[in-house]
Amino acid sequence: MGKSRTIIIAGAGIAGLTAALSLANAGFRVQVIEKAKTIDTAGVGIQLSPNATRILAGLGLSRAISAAGFTPENVIITNGATGTILSRLPLGESIRTRHEFPYLVLHRADLAAILLAAARENPEISVDFATSFEDAAMYSNGVTVMALRAGEMVEYSGCALIGADGVGSLVRERIVKGAPAKPAGEVAWRALVPVEKLHPYTDLTNTRLWIAKNGHVVTYPVRASRMLNIVAITPKETGRKLSRRVEDIAPDRLLAFFNEWSDDVCQLLASADNWSGWPLREINPAGHWTKKTTALIGDAAHAMLPYLAQGGAAAIEDAMVLAKCLAQQPEDIPLALGKYSNQRKLRTRKIWHTARKYGRIYHMRGLSAVGRDIFLRTANSRLLGNFSANRLQSQMDWLYGWKG
Ligand SMILES: Cc1cc2nc3c(=O)[nH]c(=O)nc-3n(C[C@H](O)[C@H](O)[C@H](O)COP(=O)(O)OP(=O)(O)OC[C@H]3O[C@@H](n4cnc5c(N)ncnc54)[C@H](O)[C@@H]3O)c2cc1C
Repeated sequence: MGKSRTIIIAGAGIAGLTAALSLANAGFRVQVIEKAKTIDTAGVGIQLSPNATRILAGLGLSRAISAAGFTPENVIITNGATGTILSRLPLGESIRTRHEFPYLVLHRADLAAILLAAARENPEISVDFATSFEDAAMYSNGVTVMALRAGEMVEYSGCALIGADGVGSLVRERIVKGAPAKPAGEVAWRALVPVEKLHPYTDLTNTRLWIAKNGHVVTYPVRASRMLNIVAITPKETGRKLSRRVEDIAPDRLLAFFNEWSDDVCQLLASADNWSGWPLREINPAGHWTKKTTALIGDAAHAMLPYLAQGGAAAIEDAMVLAKCLAQQPEDIPLALGKYSNQRKLRTRKIWHTARKYGRIYHMRGLSAVGRDIFLRTANSRLLGNFSANRLQSQMDWLYGWKG
């Protein structure tokens, strides 16, 4: 396959590798360049809802992700201050039955390894690590990419450039000229705790969510329930001086923020000793995503708050739609990329704003929080049984039931 069918992807994260697999399936040759020396093995988890597992299954990865993942039975929402359970949204079999594909939780390194192994097995995909995108020159029928590898500038030629280089995207900054990511004002603290360090009654069956004034905590098991993934969200003051992801943070300020939360939350957070802090950043999807033969996907196009657990899923959806549009119009790349961005903007806007709305609801205070708790408890009343479970699930149909 010649240069005219080669697509260059900057970034081998979830977006870049899923796009590589989707594009190779659609008949393109793919060159991925990744600035890191190896895939990111950051020790944290990821939830994958059926809109994402459906696409990964279509790429032949169903068995691999199911073997590496775990299907939580429910999302259990608890008031973080009082410890009162407010709501239980079924995930397990009922979600699989409703949407045909599972809701899974995985270790990120396992997902990355599965995507990379599939890319390596595909003769149409090359992945060059330790190679950093620097700049590109676009022509009406293609693009030349300049990248830095071991201190030397190297060039790649192709028919299109895909910027899958995350929230700090250089492709966004230098080629598409999009606005930079904005600090969201909150910090995500992440840790993985081996089961032996947890309280014996720790829930390893469900995704748990504790919500209260200005923050929330999420947990779910990974690695065959041998570890618990914890994400704690706090206001930015708690993470002052953090301007980017920082590993091995002393947890004093984090624990101080949650000091007055219920005992189970305090005990849970105290069990972790390997915290990393991630100041959250957002990119509004309303901006430009494409320029001539270049397009952005994933966080580079629409980095969102993680409160709906959808940033990675939306990146996977982008990859599928991008491949579909390019396969339909391979002779007119700018037109194909324009169609891709038009299709994706509407949906990612809805997801992006819904994630923000969820944050406001989780972090409510005073009377608003009382009203929220009453609503959640009523919506999940035992008296309403299956009817209420069905009603709660149907509210997520637009998201989890998406088929492209
Ligand atoms: C706390 C938290 C929890 C989350 N939980 C979930 C969840 O449960 N479910 C979910 O779906 N999403 C979740 N997300 C969101 C999800 O992690 C991201 O949306 C997703 O990782 C974005 O993937 P990406 O490939 O676009 O970007 P990234 O994962 O950032 O990958 C970008 C890649 O590009 C590389 N790169 C950067 N610059 C260059 C360059 N110049 N040249 C070459 N390569 C470059 C980077 O090294 C990296 O490998 C969460 C996010 C956070 C912060």
